[in-house]
Amino acid sequence: MAFQLIRLENHQENVSCPFCQHDIIDWSEEQYVQPCAHTLFVAMDLGFEYVSDVFESSLSRTVDEIHAEPEINVLAELESSSLQDFQVLQTDLGVENMYRYIGVSPKAIV
Ligand SMILES: [Zn+2]
Repeated sequence: MAFQLIRLENHQENVSCPFCQHDIIDWSEEQYVQPCAHTLFVAMDLGFEYVSDVFESSLSRTVDEIHAEPEINVLAELESSSLQDFQVLQTDLGVENMYRYIGVSPKAIV
């Protein structure tokens, strides 16, 4: 696996970037997904909410192809990435067995 999965406990809190401290998930904003220069993607078990060009091109399929599947296994798609050494912050959605995944790269991608 090319990434390190980091489990965060409180899904009601903002999720900040470990590298620049920007709030990638910011609940005070109407558009709560606020990518920073390190943000590779924001996904839920149901599909991607945000994907950077760098991350999408590292996957074995496009996000449109992934979203066309009746059953999406987001973690398996993340594992197909050819990128190395990124981190995935995992938070639960307050619903059993449903998670959000926030991918961050130590190197700025934009
Ligand atoms: Zn950042």
